[in-house]
Amino acid sequence: MSAVLWLLVLLLVGSVAAYRQLARTPATAVMGATLLLATVGGLSWWLALPLWLLWVATAVLLHADDWRREYVTARVLDFYRKQLPPLSDTEREAMEAGNVWWERELFSGQPDWERLSGFADRPLRGDEQAFLDGPVERLCAQLDDWRITHVDADLPPAVWQTLRDDGFFGLLIPPQFGGKGFSHRAHSAVVMKLASRSVTAAITVMVPNSLGPAELLRHYGTQAQKDHYLPRLASGQDIPCFALTGPQAGSDAGALPDVGVVCRGQHAGQEVLGVRLSFEKRYITLGPVATLIGLAFTLRDPDRLLGGAVERGITVLLLPANTPGVGRGERHLPLDVPFQNGPLHGRDVFAPLEWIIGGQDGIGRGWQMLFSCLSEGRGISLPALSTGVAKVAARHTGAYAGVREQFGLPIGRFEGVQEVLARIGGHCYQMDAARRLTLYALDEGERPAVVTAILKYHLTERGRRVINDAMDVQAGSGIMLGPRNFMGRYYQIMPVAITVEGANILTRSLIIFGQGAVRAHPYVLEEMQAAQEEDADLALERFDPLLLAHGAYLLGNAARSFWLGLSRGRLAQVPDDGPVGRYQQRLSWMSAAFALAADITMLVVGGDLKRRERLSARLGDVLSELYLASAVLWRHGQQGQPADDLPLLRWAMDDCLARMATAFDDLFANYPNRALGCLLRWLIFPTGRPSRGPNDALGQQVAELLLAPGEARDRLTDGIYLTRDPAEATGRLELAIEQVEIAGLAQRKLRGALKSGALAAVADQDVLAQAQAAGALEAGEVAMLADYQALVREIIAVDAFPADSFARDSTT
Ligand SMILES: Cc1cc2nc3c(=O)[nH]c(=O)nc-3n(C[C@H](O)[C@H](O)[C@H](O)COP(=O)(O)OP(=O)(O)OC[C@H]3O[C@@H](n4cnc5c(N)ncnc54)[C@H](O)[C@@H]3O)c2cc1C
Repeated sequence: MSAVLWLLVLLLVGSVAAYRQLARTPATAVMGATLLLATVGGLSWWLALPLWLLWVATAVLLHADDWRREYVTARVLDFYRKQLPPLSDTEREAMEAGNVWWERELFSGQPDWERLSGFADRPLRGDEQAFLDGPVERLCAQLDDWRITHVDADLPPAVWQTLRDDGFFGLLIPPQFGGKGFSHRAHSAVVMKLASRSVTAAITVMVPNSLGPAELLRHYGTQAQKDHYLPRLASGQDIPCFALTGPQAGSDAGALPDVGVVCRGQHAGQEVLGVRLSFEKRYITLGPVATLIGLAFTLRDPDRLLGGAVERGITVLLLPANTPGVGRGERHLPLDVPFQNGPLHGRDVFAPLEWIIGGQDGIGRGWQMLFSCLSEGRGISLPALSTGVAKVAARHTGAYAGVREQFGLPIGRFEGVQEVLARIGGHCYQMDAARRLTLYALDEGERPAVVTAILKYHLTERGRRVINDAMDVQAGSGIMLGPRNFMGRYYQIMPVAITVEGANILTRSLIIFGQGAVRAHPYVLEEMQAAQEEDADLALERFDPLLLAHGAYLLGNAARSFWLGLSRGRLAQVPDDGPVGRYQQRLSWMSAAFALAADITMLVVGGDLKRRERLSARLGDVLSELYLASAVLWRHGQQGQPADDLPLLRWAMDDCLARMATAFDDLFANYPNRALGCLLRWLIFPTGRPSRGPNDALGQQVAELLLAPGEARDRLTDGIYLTRDPAEATGRLELAIEQVEIAGLAQRKLRGALKSGALAAVADQDVLAQAQAAGALEAGEVAMLADYQALVREIIAVDAFPADSFARDSTT
C-alpha cells in the first residue's frame, strides 16, 4: 500500500477511536497495533519513524501520570490561570445562579434523545384547569383593552378587585399562606391567556408572581416575614413591586449607587439597629400603586455595628411604601400601554434590620437572591406573554388572511402572504414547544439558568418577528388603532418585553454562551474551581484528570463532527426513525459541531471571550437553536406525533437548523484566526449545511393550516382566549373562518354566473337577489352568503374618531 493510504488508514482508525471515545489504554493499543501493521506492511522508514516517536510520546503522556502532572499539567494549569477572566462578585453570583439541565446534553456533543423523550409532560391539575376555565375566562371576558388604554389609562377598579378576590396575585404562594400553590405550567397558562386579551392585565398579574417580593420571600424570607407578608400578598391586600433599576444602574444593575448605612434609629417607639438610606429608582412596574417595595441597595457598615466588614454588598429590603421618606405615585407611560410603572425615590429612610429579606442572614445576599429568582422567572412570564401573542397572530391573523380578499382571492392564497403566514405558524410552534419544555423542567425543580436566558431572548425576539409579520398581513387594519384592531397594541408593547428582565442585546451577547460555557460545559466549571484551589498539589491533582478527560472530549467531538458531517448525521445512533429520527441525527451532528467550536473558541480567545461579544453571541445562537429544536421534537412526541402537525414540525426544525448553520458561518467568517475558521468550517460542514431552511412547498403547507379551521390549528393556538361574540373583532374572525369554505363555494358559483353574463354586476345585495331569481344560487346559499359578506364587511372595517376627540388639553 502507498504511504498516503497508510496515513489515511491511521487517520481513520484514530478518528474512529476518538469518535467512540475509547479509554486511553485501549486507544493507545489500537493506534500502536495499526502503526505496527503499517510498518510491517511497508510504510517507509522516514514516515514510520516520526509516527512511532509521536506514538511513544503520546503513550508516555497518557500513562506516565507523575511525569505528566509535573511537566505538562502544571504548565497548562499556569496558562489556564492566566486565561481565567476576572469576575466581579456580582458576575460570579450571576454565573453560579440556578443549575444545569438539558443544555448539558447539548454541550456533550452526543445528546441522549431517549432521555429527552422520557420527560413526560403532565396536564394541569384539576384546580388549575378549573381556575383557567372559571376566573381567568371570566376575567378575560371582562377586559376591554381599548377602554383600559384610551379611557381609563389603567385597569378599571372592578378588574383590580377581581384580581384580588380571585387570587391572581398569589398564584405561586403556597396554600398555607392563602395562595394557590400553582405549578409553573399553570402560572404560564394564566399569563398566556391574559396576554391574548390584554397585555396591561397580563403584566399586572405577571409581576407579583415573578420577581415581586413574594417569590423572594418564599425562597429566602424568615418565617416571621413569610407569616406576615405572604397572606397579605396572596389576597392583594399588599401590592408588591421590585425596585432595582435606577438612572445610573440599568443593565449594569450591580453598580447601583443607592447606599444604605447601618445605624441606630427609631422604629415603633424604640431605638433599634437598622439601615438609613436614600435611593432613586425608575421604570418600576406597579411602583405607583405598590404598598410593599422590594428594594435593592448596597449596604455599608462604616461603624461596624454588625461586626465584620464595612462593605456588606447588595441587599434586599421589604419596604412598606408608606414609610416616612419614601416618594412615589408618579407614572411613566411605557409605549402607551398603561400598566402601572413609575419612579420611586427615598430620602433618609430608616428601616429596621428585620425588614431585610432573610433578616441578618440575608445581608449581602441580594444579588444571589435576584439571580436565582430571575433564572426561574425569566423562563416563565415573558415567554408566556410572547407565546400568547404569537398564538393570537397565528389564529386571528391567519383567519384574517383567509377572509380578506384582494384581486378576487383571499390574500392568504398569494405566495407572498403565505411565506409570511408560514413564519408566523412555524415560529409559534417553536415558541410554544420551548415554553412547554422549560416549564416541565421548572416544575421538576430544575432551575436551568442558561435555558431560561435562551427562552427570554429567543421567545421575545421571535414574538417581535411574529408581530411584525402579522402587522404586514393585517396592513391598514393593523395600523388604525381602535377597538377593532387586535394587533396594533402588541406591536407597541413588544419592545418592553425585549428590554426587561435582562435587555436582549446583553442577554444574547454576554449571558447565553458566557454562562453556558462555564455552567453547561462538562469540564470548564470544575477546571476553573480546580485552578482557583489555593493548595498547589491539590489543584494539580484535581486538574490533571479533568485535563485528560477534556482532551478526549475535544478529540471525540472533532471526530464526531467530521464523520457526522460526512454522513449528514446518518452515522449517529438515535432512537426514532422517520423524519423525527433524521432530525435527531442532524441535531447530534450540530451538537458535536457546537461542542467542538465552543472548545476551540475558548482555547483561542481565552479570557477575552467576555469582550468578544459577537463570537459569544453566535455560539449562543447555536446553543439556543439546539435547545429550541430539541423542544420542537419533544413537543411533537408528547402530543402523540400527530400527522397533521408534520408541516409545522418540519418547518420549525428546518428553520432551527438553518439558523444554526448561519450562526456557524458567521462565526467562522469572523474567526480571530482565519485559517482555523476555514479548517473548522471544512471539518464541520464537509458536505454543506444541515438545512437551507424551510422550502416554499413546506411554507405553503404551514400557511394552509392557518387559513382554515382544523385540529393542527387548534393545537397550535391552544390556551388563548377565544370568543364567538360577533361584537368583538376576534369573535367575528372565529365565526367567519368557520364559514369560509362554504362561503367560498357559493362565491365561486356567483362569480361564474357573473362571468357568464347571466347576472349584471350591481351592489352585493342586488346581485344575490338576482342570483337567486336566476337560479344561480339557492335561497339557503343566498342567506348564508349575505350573512358572511356582512361579517366580512365588519372584519375589514377600521375605526375612525370624531376630529375633535384628538384635541388635547394643553394644561394637563
Ligand atoms: C416597561 C419597563 C418595566 C420595567 N420594570 C422594572 C421593574 O419592575 N423593576 C426594575 O428594577 N426594573 C425595571 N425595568 C428596568 C429594566 O430592567 C431595564 O430597563 C433594563 O435593565 C435595561 O436598562 P436600561 O433601560 O437602562 O438600558 P441600558 O442599560 O442603558 O442598556 C442599553 C442597551 O445596551 C445594551 N447593553 C448594555 N450593556 C451591554 C453589554 N455589556 N453588552 C451588550 N449590550 C449591552 C442593552 O442590552 C440595551 O440594549 C423596567 C423597564 C421597562 C422599560
